[in-house]
Amino acid sequence: MESCNCIEPQWPADELLMKYQYISDFFIALAYFSIPLELIYFVKKSALFPYRWVLVQFGAFIVLCGATHLINLWTFSSHSRTVEVVITIAKVLTAAVSCVTALMLVHIIPDLLSVKTRELFLKNKAAQLDREMGLIRTQEETGRHVRMLTHEIRSTLDRHTILKTTLIELGRTLALEECALWMPTHTGLELQLSYTLRHQNSGRYTVPIHLPVITQVFNSERAVKIPPNSPVARLRDFAGKFMPGEVVAVRVPLLHLSNFQIHDWPELSTKRYALMVLMLPSDSARHWRVHELELVQVVADQVAVALSHAAILEESMRARDLLMEQNVALDLARREAETAICARNDFLAVMNHEMRTPMHAIIALSSLLQETELTPEQRLMVETILKSSNLLGTLINDVLDLSRLEDGSLELDLVTFNLHAVFKEVVQLIKPIASVKKLLVTLTFASDLPEYAIGDEKRLIQTILNIAGNAVKFSKEGSISIAACIAKSEPLLDARAPDFFPVPSDSHFYLRVQVKDSGIGINPQEIPKLFNKFAQNQSVANRNSGGTGLGLAISKRFVNLMDGHIWIESEGLGKGCVASFIIKLGIAGRSNEPDHRVVPLNHVQANFPGLKVLIMDDNGVSRMVTRGLLMHLGCDVTVTSSTDECLRVVSSVYKVVFLDIGMHGTGGYEVAMRINERITKRHERPLIVALAGSPDRVTKDNCFRVGMKGVLLKPISLEKMRSVLSELLERGTLHQS
Ligand code: ADP
Repeated sequence: MESCNCIEPQWPADELLMKYQYISDFFIALAYFSIPLELIYFVKKSALFPYRWVLVQFGAFIVLCGATHLINLWTFSSHSRTVEVVITIAKVLTAAVSCVTALMLVHIIPDLLSVKTRELFLKNKAAQLDREMGLIRTQEETGRHVRMLTHEIRSTLDRHTILKTTLIELGRTLALEECALWMPTHTGLELQLSYTLRHQNSGRYTVPIHLPVITQVFNSERAVKIPPNSPVARLRDFAGKFMPGEVVAVRVPLLHLSNFQIHDWPELSTKRYALMVLMLPSDSARHWRVHELELVQVVADQVAVALSHAAILEESMRARDLLMEQNVALDLARREAETAICARNDFLAVMNHEMRTPMHAIIALSSLLQETELTPEQRLMVETILKSSNLLGTLINDVLDLSRLEDGSLELDLVTFNLHAVFKEVVQLIKPIASVKKLLVTLTFASDLPEYAIGDEKRLIQTILNIAGNAVKFSKEGSISIAACIAKSEPLLDARAPDFFPVPSDSHFYLRVQVKDSGIGINPQEIPKLFNKFAQNQSVANRNSGGTGLGLAISKRFVNLMDGHIWIESEGLGKGCVASFIIKLGIAGRSNEPDHRVVPLNHVQANFPGLKVLIMDDNGVSRMVTRGLLMHLGCDVTVTSSTDECLRVVSSVYKVVFLDIGMHGTGGYEVAMRINERITKRHERPLIVALAGSPDRVTKDNCFRVGMKGVLLKPISLEKMRSVLSELLERGTLHQS
């Protein structure tokens, strides 16, 4: 520090020097005094500074130095002893304080140094934090890019759009020169350039999959830097003009698609990858940075996921399209089938109607012929004609029934009927042939079988007649037994109907019918086929039976309509046969029994002399035939050929009016209504009967609704006409048709 040697007695005092020293000392003192003030300010402001007392010491030392210089101002001129003493004290104090301060500084320097180290450490830390912040920011940036990319990629589920979008987005985000996707080919031996950012000729280039550079990329999960001149990176011809930019490649895992057959998708039996190649701009000093590589990896994974979703969607779309095509084809087939069914039904209805007219003529006329004088030879011929035409009539009925059964338009006609009488009628019908064949026919009823039941009487007769008729048809000798009983609520013992459980209730019961014969029998293997249409046993014995193979098929459908089951058993050829069926019938209440009971006619009249009958039929042959039948029975017949003519002629003198109702019946219905309107007195009204070609329920209902007394189905034999007229005159209405 400053050492003052103010008294130099041996040199004469130089005025000017003195003056300068004087001024200098003044300013030195001033400067010294200002420093403690600054120190005080510093200590006050810096709360953290650890060495306050050193500063105080230092301040004292400075103040003392300043004081020494200030006191010096009085030593330039002659001065007193007091001044001398003061300056001496000041100097001693300055010496003491400066030494103590120096010593203190020696102590605190290591401390100060460690503060310095800490400061350095902190600085480093701060720098590191800065770097980390930068990294986080970069990662955030990367994440944002990935999210944006992922969003773009995931916003579509079309494979081509996904790949194209990926390349475009990557190219934009990373400012790439080129970006390409190589897909494995079907053989799996090559990679094909499938998508590129800028290259035009993708699809033409292929490279072998086993190149070392490709294997290297496929073996790594990360994006790998590859040489710019490797085959998968040589997409642009730089021709040595430019420095190619850095290139990285990354694998894109492809979904294992063994369960899907996507046509233009590689067959992936093992784990396969596509290859994505990304190039930085040529001639640039840019290098791939870590976060960019990470981004590429993440994007590759996202593309893989999006591709797998797209593949699944593609597959389900393909399946849906296929299904739709199949549905369209099915719909078309269904509509064609429906049209065909309609056409067939129309055809059948027309044929049925049209055939009945000539059939009516043949049957009616031959039955008329039968009643004339004939030679035995002629009689045989007429009988054969009658038999054949009756057979033809049955066939027409069967075919029509079958077509109605198949299109579901046939409905049961439920009435209360005499169950016992049904069986007796069937026996009456089969008896003539059975007696010719000398077959014994027996009929047994279980004691608990009700006499009346509710059901479709006609269909039941038809069914029993079918199987009993078969028994007669296929038996040459022996006996036929028909048995009827109530089916018990137990599973049938027959293995062919294991699921059929007849469960009776308060309103219905199950009728079981069994027809046993001692005829030709059936080979058990043939049995299941018998219920098919036109099924016929091909045995020699069967061939000449004259059947159509429709009887059982129709019976089965009738039985099904009646919630029942039909089956046949036979132990083999020559061992006879047992046909059985079960049907559901309603239990007839006491109240409705008499209403529907069919009381047998007292007698069937042979002739009806003078009975005035009016016929309306637009078909000449049919008209002539009906007239012939009625005239043969002694009636007084008037014929008309149109509705107008009929309405002109009709009056209460006619007892019976036969109206032919055509295919749709409209003309006939109207005439019937008009007649009933015109002749107001009920007992004077003629009995109107419809002559119909189609025996369906709608026609019948319509006829009764317009006030007709019955429906007569063509063809009509003389016998039938007799019983019809008898019934009409006796009861005023017709039960049979
Ligand atoms: P159809 O008797 O008109 O030929 P079905 O449908 O009634 O037609 O019968 C089909 C076939 O079943 C017959 O052709 C015959 O071979 C066989 N069948 C039916 N019932 C008997 C029976 N009781 N005995 C022997 N064979 C029978």
